[in-house]
Amino acid sequence: MSSIAFIGLGNMGAPMALNLVKAGHSLTVFDLVPAAVKLLTDAGAQAAASASEAVKGADVVVSMLPASKHVEGLYLGEDLLGKISSSALVIECSTIAPDSARKVAQAAEARGITMIDAPVSGGTGGAAAGTLTFIVGGQAEALERARPVLEKMGKNIFHAGPAGAGQVAKICNNMLLGILMAGTSEALALGVANGLDPKVLSDIIAKSSGRNWATELYNPWPGVMDHAPASKGYAGGFGVDLMLKDLGLAAEAALSARASIPLGELARNLYSLHSSGGSGKLDFSSIVNLVKREQD
Ligand code: NAD
Repeated sequence: MSSIAFIGLGNMGAPMALNLVKAGHSLTVFDLVPAAVKLLTDAGAQAAASASEAVKGADVVVSMLPASKHVEGLYLGEDLLGKISSSALVIECSTIAPDSARKVAQAAEARGITMIDAPVSGGTGGAAAGTLTFIVGGQAEALERARPVLEKMGKNIFHAGPAGAGQVAKICNNMLLGILMAGTSEALALGVANGLDPKVLSDIIAKSSGRNWATELYNPWPGVMDHAPASKGYAGGFGVDLMLKDLGLAAEAALSARASIPLGELARNLYSLHSSGGSGKLDFSSIVNLVKREQD
C-alpha cells in the first residue's frame, strides 16, 4: 500500500481521502481549515502541520484545491515540488486552467517528478461513493502508475491526452453541466408557475427526452430529492463560484481557440448574476432561485 499525501480536504477532497484511508493506504493530510483535517484524523489519517510536511516521504501526492491560483501557489509559489521526492507521483485533481496544469507539470518534469492532471466528475455524491470519473492528462505510463490509487476513488478513468488535456475535457463537461442545470431550473420553474407539482414534472422529465444528470441525481428544486443540496438549503455540493470559475475557464479556452460558445457565455452570465446577488457559496443548483417565483 502506498504512502499518500493528500492536500485539500474540502467538499470533494475529504470524501476522496476517506476512501483512500478505507482502502488501507497510509494517509498524511493537510488543509488550511483544521476542522477538515480533524474529519480525516478521526478516520485514521495522520495530520501534517503544512503541505511540505505532508509530502515528506510520500510515494503519491494528491491535491484537490479550488482553482489555478491555489495550485500554482502551492506547487510553484511555496515550492512544494522542491519538497517532493523525485520518485513520487503527483495526481492533481482540481479543476484549473489547462495552461496552469501544463506549467506545473513542466516544472515537475524539470525536477524528475511525474505529474498528471486528473480532474473529476461525479459531484460530492460520487466522491463519497467512490464512483468518480477521472479525466486524465499526461503520459499513459503515468496514468497506469496512478490507476491503483484512482480506482479506490472512482469507477471510470479516461485518458484525455497529454498534460492539460484532462482539464480541457473537464471544462467542456462542466460548461455543459452549467447550461443543463440552468435549463433544468428554467423548465421546472415554468411548470410550477403553470400549476404543476415539481416532483411530478421531475419524474416525467427524468423518463423523457429532456432528462439529464440534474433530473436524475441532482434536482435543483427543494424537496424533490432528499439527498440533493436543494433539499438541504443548497449547503455543500458544488459552489456557484466554482461553477463560475469553470465557465470562465471555458470562455478563456474558447477565446484562445476562436471557438463559439454562445450558451456557455449565457450560462456564465447567469451564474455571475447569481453570485453577485450573494449566492456564491451556495451549491450551483441554487441557480433555480433566479427563475423561481417566491410563492413557489
Ligand atoms: P472546496 O472549496 O470545498 O475545498 C477546497 C479545499 O482546499 C478547502 O478545504 C480549502 O481550505 C483547501 N485549500 C485551499 N488552499 C489550500 C492550500 N494552499 N493548502 C491546503 N489546503 C488548501 O472545493 P471542492 O468543492 O472540494 O472543489 C475542489 C476542486 O474540485 C475545485 O477545483 C472544483 O472545481 C472541483 N470539483 C468540485 C466538485 C464538487 O461537486 N464540489 C465536483 C468536481 C470537481
